[in-house]
Amino acid sequence: MFITFEGIDGSGKSTQIANLKKAFEREGAEVKVFRDPGGTEVSEKVRNILLNPNYDIDPVTELLLFSSARSQLVAEKVLPALEEGCIVILDRFYDSTTAYQGYGRASVSLEEIHRLNSIASHKRAPDLTIYMKVSLDEAKKRMKDKEKDRMEQAGDFFFEKVIKGFNSLSKQEERFYTVDATQPAHKVGEQIWTHVETFFKG
Ligand code: C5P
Repeated sequence: MFITFEGIDGSGKSTQIANLKKAFEREGAEVKVFRDPGGTEVSEKVRNILLNPNYDIDPVTELLLFSSARSQLVAEKVLPALEEGCIVILDRFYDSTTAYQGYGRASVSLEEIHRLNSIASHKRAPDLTIYMKVSLDEAKKRMKDKEKDRMEQAGDFFFEKVIKGFNSLSKQEERFYTVDATQPAHKVGEQIWTHVETFFKG
């Protein structure tokens, strides 16, 4: 089972991923969690380049770097773990590339982004994608004391486009489950678990 979490920074993904991992483990399942970009030695190195505020990275280079980090993560960790029968949870996956590099940067067409996403994921789509939907104002309130990485230095206009991207994906893709992430964390967690249980147990 392959589950991804999506949403802008400050949507509460990390908290909910930790909750979901515990809930699965209570059921006796083996769970592996990775972050994208990251999760392997090579991908973490690429992540450091991508998020370094001292670098001025061309948008196409940025797209290819996110994709290369993802390809390594899928090949080295995700596919083997799925093969072993583990539940794999990813903090972001290619929908982030569609939203940030596709809708946000908008320097490469969505069609080309989809093709690249398919290559970088080794054609492995998630079974379920949980979209933590939150407004930019709410996310900013939650992030106000955090030091900003290179991507977070973009302005509100950029992030509004990213949100628009996630919102359209959530309408187009059947694998998306949208949760109102402005609710208290325990409520968000309950809703995710209820959905995950019905999704997998039928
Ligand atoms: O969620 P995480 O902290 O791992 O993301 C790292 C940074 O990269 C964040 O600022 C996130 O918004 C950004 N990002 C991006 N494009 C992606 C994935 C993440 O701009 N495809």
